[in-house]
Amino acid sequence: MTDNKTSILDGGHHGDGLGFDSRAIHYGFNPVDFGRAVQPPVFLTSTYGFESVEANEAAAALGGRLYAREYNPTTEILEKRLAHLEGAEAGLVVSTGMAAFGTLVLSLLSQGDELVVHKTLYSNTISMIEQGLPRFGIKVVPVDLSQPSNLDEAITDKTRLVYFETPVNPLSAILDIEAIAQRAHARGVKVAVDSTFASPALQRPIEHGADIVLHSLTKYINGHGDALGGALLGDAETLHKLHETGLRYITGATLSPHSAFLILRGLKTLSLRMDRHSSSALTIAQMLEAHPAVGWVSYPFLDSHSGKAVAQKQMSQGSGMLAFGLKSGFDGARKIFDRFQLLTRAVSLGDTDSLIYHPASIMRARQAIRADAHLVDGVGDDLIRLSVGLENVEDLVADLRGAMQVL
Ligand SMILES: *Cc1c(COP(=O)(O)O)cnc(C)c1O
Repeated sequence: MTDNKTSILDGGHHGDGLGFDSRAIHYGFNPVDFGRAVQPPVFLTSTYGFESVEANEAAAALGGRLYAREYNPTTEILEKRLAHLEGAEAGLVVSTGMAAFGTLVLSLLSQGDELVVHKTLYSNTISMIEQGLPRFGIKVVPVDLSQPSNLDEAITDKTRLVYFETPVNPLSAILDIEAIAQRAHARGVKVAVDSTFASPALQRPIEHGADIVLHSLTKYINGHGDALGGALLGDAETLHKLHETGLRYITGATLSPHSAFLILRGLKTLSLRMDRHSSSALTIAQMLEAHPAVGWVSYPFLDSHSGKAVAQKQMSQGSGMLAFGLKSGFDGARKIFDRFQLLTRAVSLGDTDSLIYHPASIMRARQAIRADAHLVDGVGDDLIRLSVGLENVEDLVADLRGAMQVL
């Protein structure tokens, strides 16, 4: 009698040729290798014993299956699965999304090299490029990549990498992956895309010409707000370097195997969740756009979004992230924020729970301890970011409407 699960997964493919959802559940895990456990076991060990000196040498030659900073069987399943879902040859997972960015730039760039970035990025990535990288002699060149032709002037013979997010945090602006990759490749420069806002269920940048994809696994891929993680996906040669230098001795930012297990569990329901996040976010974006107190709404799949055509080219749905501003600006945001009953006032995004955040309030508070704290380029003090969760959309609409009644 054939074992269904084994026959799907045998032949060394472990799920090749299956649809996205089937691979999100099965790819890279063959139960036969793990005592026929249906779910991947968590390997809590810091090191691995060897039968002989020869076996130890063979493991070292394999690229570091010696010690748990560089190798863990649970983590390896997650790396293989994410790489396959993104259409990448190889993957690396690390402790956070910021660790992924640090691993990327500190492994691939050296003193004197240049990094071209889109001018608006996740706020801590901005801190790294403004305060971190220049200390190591790496020049960062911010440009507006909403006009891909701006790249032509920004790239020099010292440029090693072009880096951007799409959708862009926190604006939900859209950048054209294909157009940017074509221009960068014409000059021999690699392109890395932070695809955290979309997840591979909605957008796979490598299919549009990107070389490397970065994710904060903390967000949609884990999806439940209970673990931190980061990932880099791309060609085998680059990923080998990121693993053997970046993770092994530059950052040492290993993902906990328990977090790898949680993230593998979250990944199993990724496209179901993204479908619901996206449909609820579109409903809420349309409600906000029609509301008399709202000045503007940015959601990629709204007709009013300037990037809608590009979004439809590279994303299958709009995801759960939207930004909006009230006509009463900063003061209006302050007035409604304490009135939410269901929406949670919190940073982070991509959770089952809806999270709402007003960057300017936090920035003003931070300026008391850090005079040079500033809002990211392109973010106004009226901007409210909403990560639409998986609650009933009528309840979310009612909570927003109720809070806005004071305006
Ligand atoms: C949150 C986030 C990061 C950083 O990820 P952490 O897991 O919090 O370190 C990077 N990029 C984007 C777009 C993010 O939203």
